Amino acid sequence: MKASPLQQKELLRLQALDIKVLQLSHQTKSLTQHAELVALNREVEASRMKLLGRSGELDDVRTELGRVESDVEVVEKRIARDTDRLQHTSSIKDIQALDSEISSLKKRLFDLEEIEIAVLERQEEHEAAVAVAETERDAIAERVSATESERDELLVDLTRQLGELTRDRATVVAAVPDDLAALYERLRITGNGNAAALLRARTCSGCTMTLTGSDLADVRQAPVDDVIFCPDCGAVLVRTEESGI
Ligand SMILES: [Zn+2]
Repeated sequence: MKASPLQQKELLRLQALDIKVLQLSHQTKSLTQHAELVALNREVEASRMKLLGRSGELDDVRTELGRVESDVEVVEKRIARDTDRLQHTSSIKDIQALDSEISSLKKRLFDLEEIEIAVLERQEEHEAAVAVAETERDAIAERVSATESERDELLVDLTRQLGELTRDRATVVAAVPDDLAALYERLRITGNGNAAALLRARTCSGCTMTLTGSDLADVRQAPVDDVIFCPDCGAVLVRTEESGI
């Protein structure tokens, strides 16, 4: 294939741009925020489970308190009913029976109130534990949000740079003959991204192989508008004043 030395040099610009594109894509994938967010998501899940557990415990204590309060209400009503009856009876037998019942109900009420206080105290402890878990959850959510913002900011910048490179690349491709551009694209695939290399001081800058013997002689003999290839890595070998041949 034939191409002027200038057109061949354009391949080097193309290669440099493609390396930058690869670097940007690598940077995009390896942002530290990606790993941080994976770790943070684990914390989010752990904090969610913790809050769920503590809320469940609090619900249990609230149910228990409800039961005790309802027991207190029942006993209070019975005391009120018995007291009322006491005031409306003249039977000694009834008075004794009611007195005895009221007295045991009052003891029961006292015990229930003791239990109620204890349950209320436990409820407060559980409410505090839930509040702590909620604060932790909110703090993690803030870290997630901050990390996402950082990531998004970096991604916007990387996308902008990628857009610029893509435009530059299109300009360079437009300046290269179609067959040469097609050759470059093919080599890019077979050479794992290494499609064009500068020959500098007899050394291929793509694979660092130094030309000697018949390889060097072949390169020296090749007309300047011949597209030649590195015998080692297969990339288009671009000759310039730096080539040392
Ligand atoms: Zn090479």
